[in-house]
Amino acid sequence: MTETMTSSIEASFAASVPLEKIALETYVPPARPSLIGLSRAEIADRLGEIGVAPAQRKMRTQQLWHWIYFRGARSFDEMTSVSKEMRGELEKHFTVDRPEVAAEQISNDGTRKWLLRLPSGDPLQRAHEVECVYIPETDRGTLCVSSQVGCTLNCSFCHTGTQRLVRNLTAGEIVGQIETPAGNRLVTNVVMMGMGEPLYNFDAVRDALLMVSDNEGIGISRRRITLSTSGVVPNIVRTGEEIGVMLAISLHAVRDELRNELVPLNRKYPIAELLEACRDYPGASNARRITFEYVMLKGVNDSLDDAKLLVKLLKGIPAKINLIPFNPWPGTRYECSDWDQIEKFSEYIFNAGYSSPVRTPRGRDILAACGQLKSETEKLSARERQALRAMAMTD
Ligand code: SAH
Ligand code: SF4
Repeated sequence: MTETMTSSIEASFAASVPLEKIALETYVPPARPSLIGLSRAEIADRLGEIGVAPAQRKMRTQQLWHWIYFRGARSFDEMTSVSKEMRGELEKHFTVDRPEVAAEQISNDGTRKWLLRLPSGDPLQRAHEVECVYIPETDRGTLCVSSQVGCTLNCSFCHTGTQRLVRNLTAGEIVGQIETPAGNRLVTNVVMMGMGEPLYNFDAVRDALLMVSDNEGIGISRRRITLSTSGVVPNIVRTGEEIGVMLAISLHAVRDELRNELVPLNRKYPIAELLEACRDYPGASNARRITFEYVMLKGVNDSLDDAKLLVKLLKGIPAKINLIPFNPWPGTRYECSDWDQIEKFSEYIFNAGYSSPVRTPRGRDILAACGQLKSETEKLSARERQALRAMAMTD
């Protein structure tokens, strides 16, 4: 395809895509709610509602917290330090259910992708599904967690963005992913880089991450938790102040014109504003750098001029740059940059003094790599799967 044809198609595509989608479904909580994801104060309130005396609530809450998050209990039955009568009472009103694993896929590189089924609470309503990816490495295990079913934003290179169904996950459903299938595996790092825009579900993401980093529970340090955003500027400072985790920004372009097309949210919060928010990010320092993610799209954003401008833009921000080879998905109009171009780009940035690792694509063959997640029951045809595998193997 010629350059002009590509850009005219891109222009018409960009014009026809609305900035944001409207959520199609509302969440109906299950009849017996799960205690997963409630704060200590909320658990105490629920205990009050089922008649636990005020003097006992704090102690009971501590017990439950310890059993759920420290020991990973899956039922009230296991909580042997809680009286039998109390356990029966809890069982009558609540569960400690985590999202149910509906399907598991294992990539030939060891990456695992789980399709999680979330209760919709209404037998007439289709269950909601979300994906979560576990990436084992020799000395650590990273869990890539979703914040929404689908995503309301429409980044043109992202598969998740093409999913129509969108709803926010509850804090419990977010914590539940960390607890679910990886429960007995080594999870040392958490990245909010699955489906959805975490800063469009701020409260639930905050509550969940505070729980994940709570020392009396799961206890993963905030330095090992990274939240990735496409640039919801007003919530960036809040992330630093209220959650205190590491920040990653999906930058992907260094000129507003191109970024408007790749990350349409840029029309609302342009590059200059976004970088201003990064300069003000509480807690950023040379020891705690902000990661800038940059997807390598052939002939679109991968020139050396782009690399030069990138270095200029990031001046003064404690930054590292993560180059992500584009992960293809069926129907996409983009291609991954050639390997030697990625290397040249990376070298330029490195020589300018930035760490610029190229992220190895993981789990491409099972559509588990960055931006490939899409749970909607649009199953791939055998032919599409084959084509995809072929693409993944040519790198
Ligand atoms: N919504 C958030 C977090 C989830 S996406 C965000 O956009 O930051 C995690 C990362 O994968 C983002 O940097 C995203 O831009 C990138 N990504 C999306 N689609 C991709 C694709 N097809 N190939 C490579 N990276 C992709
Ligand atoms: Fe949403 Fe992130 Fe995908 Fe953009 S890249 S559509 S913000 S999940």
